[in-house]
Formats: sequence, C-alpha cells, structure tokens
Amino acid sequence: MEDCIFCKIIAGDIPSSKVYEDEYVYAFRDINPIAPVHVLIVPKQHISCADEITPENSFIVSKIFEAIPKIAKAEGLDNGYNVLNNCGEAGGQTVMHLHFHLLGGIDLMGLVQKQ
Ligand code: 5GP
Ligand code: ZN
Repeated sequence: MEDCIFCKIIAGDIPSSKVYEDEYVYAFRDINPIAPVHVLIVPKQHISCADEITPENSFIVSKIFEAIPKIAKAEGLDNGYNVLNNCGEAGGQTVMHLHFHLLGGIDLMGLVQKQ
C-alpha cells in the first residue's frame, strides 16, 4: 500500500525502533507511548483493520499472537500486559493498517470512562 505509514515502516522507508521481526510480523515502539512499554505489532501484509480479517488471512493474527509473548518476555513484562486493537473511526483507529498495541505498566481498565 503506497500511502500506508506502517507499510513504509515495514519496508524501512520510514525509520522505526524495531523490537521484533519474523516472516509475517513486525513490531516497533510507538512514537507517542501511553505506557512505559508501548509496542505496535503489525502484520507485514497490509490488512487495513480488524474488519478485514477473513478465513484466508486470519492465520496472520495467530502469528501476531505467537509473537506477543516473545515480545512481552523480552520487554520484561513478567507480571502481565494489555493487548489493544482499535478498529475504525469510532474505535479510534488512526492508522489504517491492522495493529495491536502491547501495553505494559499501565492500568488500562482504570482509563475506561464511566458513563
Ligand atoms: P491507532 O490509534 O490507529 O490504534 O494507533 C496508531 C498508533 O500509531 C498511535 O499510537 C501512534 O502514536 C502510532 N504512530 C503513528 N505514526 C507513527 C510512526 O510514524 N511511527 C511510530 N513508531 N508510531 C506511529
Ligand atoms: Zn499498510
């Protein structure tokens, strides 16, 4: 995808602080962290959002979730962490390339606004 920031990061055209890479997955530090550990985990294949996951490409999600414990361990998140996916405009997604936020050292549920 030509105009996709994360595709450009994966290709190395935009610099990033890489923390993990394999055949299917690329992970790098969020440029604007909201937690002491804030890593973005993305498929190398361009999938725009969670709505675009299909039986044909869903194996990529498995690959991402196989990578997550490795990254969490390397980041020292021995006591746990949060994984977050924002999907679509109402979900707060700002970069339309599927990604999961790995967040460590934050009380995520404490951020949820009570109605
Ligand atoms: P979203 O709101 O779409 O779930 O999250 C997008 C995330 O990408 C944001 O947390 C934002 O800080 C991060 N981000 C946007 N552009 C860049 C970039 O060029 N480099 C890095 N490392 N992170 C980015
Ligand atoms: Zn992309």
